[in-house]
Amino acid sequence: MKYYSTNKSVPEVSLEEAVVKGLADDKGLFMPERIEKFDPEFFAGIHKLSFQELSFEVAKKFFGEDVPEETLKNLVYDTLSFDCPIANVNDNIFALELFHGPTLAFKDVGGRFMARLLGYFLKGHKNEVNVLVATSGDTGSAVANGFLSVPGIKVYVLYPKGLVSEIQEKQFTTLGQNITAIEIDGTFDDCQRLVKAAFLDEDLKNTLQLTSANSINVARFLPQAFYYFNAYARIRERGIRDDVVISVPSGNFGNLTAGLFAKKMGLPVKRFIAANNENDIVYNYLQNGKYEPRASVATIANAMDVGDPSNFARILDLYGHSHPAIAADIKGYRYSNAEIREVMKEIHYKYGYTLDPHGAIGYKALDEDLQENEVGIFLETAHPAKFTETVESTLGKKIMLPEKLAEFMKGKKLSIPMSKQFEEFKTYLLTK
Ligand SMILES: *Cc1c(COP(=O)(O)O)cnc(C)c1O
Repeated sequence: MKYYSTNKSVPEVSLEEAVVKGLADDKGLFMPERIEKFDPEFFAGIHKLSFQELSFEVAKKFFGEDVPEETLKNLVYDTLSFDCPIANVNDNIFALELFHGPTLAFKDVGGRFMARLLGYFLKGHKNEVNVLVATSGDTGSAVANGFLSVPGIKVYVLYPKGLVSEIQEKQFTTLGQNITAIEIDGTFDDCQRLVKAAFLDEDLKNTLQLTSANSINVARFLPQAFYYFNAYARIRERGIRDDVVISVPSGNFGNLTAGLFAKKMGLPVKRFIAANNENDIVYNYLQNGKYEPRASVATIANAMDVGDPSNFARILDLYGHSHPAIAADIKGYRYSNAEIREVMKEIHYKYGYTLDPHGAIGYKALDEDLQENEVGIFLETAHPAKFTETVESTLGKKIMLPEKLAEFMKGKKLSIPMSKQFEEFKTYLLTK
């Protein structure tokens, strides 16, 4: 399978090149040249397949031409060594829990799959690959844990000093081995700027093989489609035959876009809901057709604080830049911090389900949008304990820290303090 750039001004590349490069040379995002459909029989029997089994079928449609079948099966099964269940929150609303992986957030699947696929491509290569990733919290932990002890790959996680939660920090600073955490005296934007500058720097390009593990990478992005097939399968497994609406708490729009791919592959989803916090750039686009990126504002659903969502380019490409076509498949909602807290309280005390701030946005949008004879599924993208402070202050009580998080908290923080000057970062990488 070939991959083209959404900017369409460079030649198509192989899967390997798309994964190693991350971003196309014309700064566009890579897209597969074809999106293959499943036969209707596949969906008729989908409830009999486990998360791993159906994900392997989906993976074959994307990667089957480029990765031998047994290898791909191992990659998928090894990536998905945890469950992805649905929980019934109330009458017709279900949470698809994407937080049963090692770092308790949905980015685990993409992070783990990308690490394994890159590891496969690099087998037998002499040169080491350096993965650079800027994080405001969740991406760093998913990528670092995904790549931990993968041979031939070194990971550098850049994060803003004092601006990630203690739990998040522990998840990528305590690992050691091939993972190095760099604590930048600056903001998330500074971290991102340093990473981008490194990719453009001629000296670094000539001496080191650098790649990015942000959600623009097809190896992180495409596996998120597994979730949507699983959502549908688990609903059918319960004997529910209503029309399915899926609500996705969205920031960079990688997750939702993977759902749109699933729909193009034939998955019977009636519509998607793009649920935003106050960073409502795509919400506004869905209303009026104008895409106006702006600086992000900080909210309590901070993994969605994105002012210029990179995967929007993929949505435009997928729908031939047609606003009516996009608006027919996706409905937008947006909520303030106060509204998010309100929902978290209501659902906890009324139904006994504890939402994290991101999932709360997804739930609320469904609750407003759902019609008769429809069943709604929202993606619960993180375990509430990842956002302990917000959840506890909202609910007015303590919540339990799951075993996995408690383990991370015991580790010792190992990170390298650094200024936000590019020269310091560059010298550091060159002398490693
Ligand atoms: C990254 C993230 C999101 C947003 O996902 P996108 O693919 O960037 O839209 C939502 N919730 C949580 C908890 C996240 O970590």
